[in-house]
Amino acid sequence: MQVQNFNDLPLSKDVLRGIKALGFENPSPIQAQSIMPLLEGRDVIGQAQTGTGKTAAFGIPMVESIDLSDKRVQGLVLAPTRELAVQIAEHISRISRYTGVRVCPIYGGEKINRQIQQLKRGVHIVVGTPGRTIDHLERGTLRLGAVRMVVLDEADRMLDMGFVNDINKILDRVPEDRQTSLFSATMDRNVWKICDRYMDRPEKILVSKDEIALVQIEQRY
Ligand code: ADP
Repeated sequence: MQVQNFNDLPLSKDVLRGIKALGFENPSPIQAQSIMPLLEGRDVIGQAQTGTGKTAAFGIPMVESIDLSDKRVQGLVLAPTRELAVQIAEHISRISRYTGVRVCPIYGGEKINRQIQQLKRGVHIVVGTPGRTIDHLERGTLRLGAVRMVVLDEADRMLDMGFVNDINKILDRVPEDRQTSLFSATMDRNVWKICDRYMDRPEKILVSKDEIALVQIEQRY
């Protein structure tokens, strides 16, 4: 089923308000196809380029699924670069603006103490680069025992950058019954290996190039 409107999705009033404040009216193809299975708790593989609206595709169901009464980290997003981690965390914060869900980016290059303070205050969603995530895990400043949702964003790039061991290490430390989703522009053998190892009967969503062109890209000639 293709969802035509955000209002057709079983989303809370506060999340819909956040989406509206972002100026989004209709879901992009990747959003229309992934939000529902993710809300239902299924694992999802989304093949889509950047700029297709992937962040909200996983961010909306993640925010919606957070239990506010639990102050532990429940959602973990891994992304290849610091810029991306910051951008994703900002985007999710905007979606969650009216909900009380707390989001924090963790990445290398920034003083670790600042991140430690933020983590101490309690965050529901962490968006991290693999290296710094491992660093926090080893220091004991990040605990993943309550994580219920994991997203691997730009998985192909993370593997190209040599993060495979870090990703394995992190995923081995989150509870096994979590939901896992993976987004990647390309699906090669190494990306499939991660899917086979960590995902349970994933729903595969492919956004074709033609569909991508329909979204948010002003076409000129
Ligand atoms: P990706 O994560 O796929 O690289 P983004 O999530 O950053 O893409 O989205 C690309 C741009 O499109 C952003 O500026 C975002 O705010 C905008 N966008 C995403 N989804 C929608 C939507 N449903 N309606 C309008 N704009 C959207």
